[in-house]
Amino acid sequence: MPDLAPSIQEIVEIVTHARNQGHSIGFVPTMGALHAGHLKLMQEARRENDFVVVSIFVNPLQFDRKDDLDRYPRTLAADMEACSTIPVDAVFTPSSAELYPRDQLAFVDVPDLTTHLCGAFRPGHFRGVTTIVTKLFNIVRPDRAYFGQKDAQQLAVIRRMVEDLNMPVAVIGVPTVREPDGLALSSRNRHLTPEQRQVATILPQMLHEARLRMDRGERSASAIRKAVGPGFQKRADVRLEYFEIVDPRTLAPVEQIGGPVLIAGAIWVGPTRLIDNVSWPAGQERN
Ligand code: AMP
Repeated sequence: MPDLAPSIQEIVEIVTHARNQGHSIGFVPTMGALHAGHLKLMQEARRENDFVVVSIFVNPLQFDRKDDLDRYPRTLAADMEACSTIPVDAVFTPSSAELYPRDQLAFVDVPDLTTHLCGAFRPGHFRGVTTIVTKLFNIVRPDRAYFGQKDAQQLAVIRRMVEDLNMPVAVIGVPTVREPDGLALSSRNRHLTPEQRQVATILPQMLHEARLRMDRGERSASAIRKAVGPGFQKRADVRLEYFEIVDPRTLAPVEQIGGPVLIAGAIWVGPTRLIDNVSWPAGQERN
């Protein structure tokens, strides 16, 4: 089993010891309920670093809805088992009380990149993400940190934060791990009933369909949205939140497709919100 570090002092001691031995430190921040997507990040970290730290912390600061925070799955025993299969070296499981002992007054913001996509629908979400990631970076002080392309906006925002603030860490993006039917793995998939789980595949299907139209030469984003969008309305229990074609760096909507783009969508299946994205052309993801 990896070392379990429930406090800041414990993880600092563990990582300091590893660093003093000359080990490079890889870091995978998560909110737990670990699945094969998280494991892929850990495998990459294992491959590239001497010492691997995973954090498990359901960060209240990034939840815009209390019901989402309350029902977020918490599965620490299974998560520790999963971490031991890689194996990682240490698992940091801080408490909210220790990370936020009083009102947080200092925040990290990356405004322009958070106005579109999820940022438009989840007020304060990315500020919560960039602030907790900064805190975790300051505690763990990793050489490399691993994030999934599944959360493409989060990855872009963190890259920009690290560049703009000269944070001494390399940010590494890892491709999305999917179920055989295309659904991206997500901790929130556990909330889906078997019927909802089936209809959820509409999201990757629509993204794939949009990419196919670009492959065939369509260059108008609105034409693609018009052709593909109605597919979401076929099911009563699915609600489309957004379906956008954006510049992969600025995340601003693109009308005339002249270079690589990110096709991103968010849907609600019953009470569960799911997000996904693909790059066009395929395989253009920046690692
Ligand atoms: P979370 O626990 O949902 O905050 O995710 C922790 C990290 O795992 C984030 O960097 C996510 O982008 C990444 N991640 C989540 N799902 C997947 C997936 N299906 N494939 C690859 N990475 C993922």
